[in-house]
Amino acid sequence: PDIALATSRLGRTSGEIDVTAPWEHPDAHRLDEQSLATWLRRGAIGSGGVELVEVLLGSAFGAAASETSALSALAYIAGAGDEIHRGTLDRMISVAGGAQESRFVGGSQLISQRMAEGLGDDVTLGAPVRRIEHHATGVTVTTDAGAFHGDQVIVSVPPHLAAEIEWSPTLPAHQDALFRRMTFGTLMKCEAVYERPFWREDGLSGQGVFRGDGHPVCSMFDNTPPSGSPGILMGFVGGAGWRRWAPRSARQRGGAVLQSFARVVGPAALAPVGYFEKDWTAERWTRGGPTAVLAPGVLTTLGRWRDRPLGGPHSRVHWAGAEHSDYWNGYMDGAVRSGQMAASAAIAHSGGPS
Ligand SMILES: Cc1cc2nc3c(=O)[nH]c(=O)nc-3n(C[C@H](O)[C@H](O)[C@H](O)COP(=O)(O)OP(=O)(O)OC[C@H]3O[C@@H](n4cnc5c(N)ncnc54)[C@H](O)[C@@H]3O)c2cc1C
Repeated sequence: PDIALATSRLGRTSGEIDVTAPWEHPDAHRLDEQSLATWLRRGAIGSGGVELVEVLLGSAFGAAASETSALSALAYIAGAGDEIHRGTLDRMISVAGGAQESRFVGGSQLISQRMAEGLGDDVTLGAPVRRIEHHATGVTVTTDAGAFHGDQVIVSVPPHLAAEIEWSPTLPAHQDALFRRMTFGTLMKCEAVYERPFWREDGLSGQGVFRGDGHPVCSMFDNTPPSGSPGILMGFVGGAGWRRWAPRSARQRGGAVLQSFARVVGPAALAPVGYFEKDWTAERWTRGGPTAVLAPGVLTTLGRWRDRPLGGPHSRVHWAGAEHSDYWNGYMDGAVRSGQMAASAAIAHSGGPS
């Protein structure tokens, strides 16, 4: 009953939120000044419902329900849709028909690699941007591989990393303050490899969610490639679970992750032929994952500065990236949407067709 109450409350209130301006909700300030955990408890949702939300957020946000504002989490759910279909919690967490349904055969890095092939020498790799300078006639982007000059610049790095770039003139204070508060969640992906997906022979999906009772994994999925071999189980260690388990030795953590898998698919999970883990907080140019976690108070005070065109001394700068999309904010779909918006803005700025 707690889980049914929690999902219906999340669904009802997120359904009232305009993803383009969550701060306009009549109750926006009250929703933003409390954490999602507090909001659920005040709605008389018992521990089972809050635990379910913790599991969902651990994977979807890399954060605990006590870390994110209720308004921000509700806007995130409302964004799991598009201009025609309202976002729903179900679409966000479902495999069939939902956000967890599809994967890229060969890995999602293929998108960047294939785009780069088409662009040839125009792509410069291994050259972090350190400084962006805006002049009356263009922009100069200074990187570790030298300076590049252009008419305009599209900045498509995560907001908290955009704030680390040295800006000339400096970014407006509100936007800088917002970006610095858009730090990412804490998330690790753990994968165990087996000769075959043995759990399927027992009619099991390989999917599971875990309450916090000693399990590092918050949710797990069957990650076997479409060819059916090898068998792969993948678990997210995120939020509170990451904080507990990231400092432990890889051996201790790996053993506990396999115990989590075994709880769902049986003891054969304890003997993989390979095991890999990736801690996204250790990636210098991402610093966490999968997306920004907004603490109470940030969205209503600073949210409207997210991708506001800068104008004035920064009119040649356009923002892109998954955190700049109203729909599927923090997902690859959102990244593509924001790229299309930024490209249209750049074309319009240069006087071309929008
Ligand atoms: C563990 C994990 C699981 C995820 N699962 C899913 C999922 O199932 N479905 C989904 O849709 N999304 C998922 N995501 C989110 C998805 O990966 C992101 O939303 C998407 O990659 C964002 O694209 P982007 O182009 O905005 O940013 P990114 O992919 O982060 O690209 C930004 C690029 O900017 C570079 N960069 C940063 N700073 C600088 C600098 N100063 N100079 C130059 N370059 C810089 C980075 O190296 C990076 O290549 C997941 C993310 C993680 C971490």
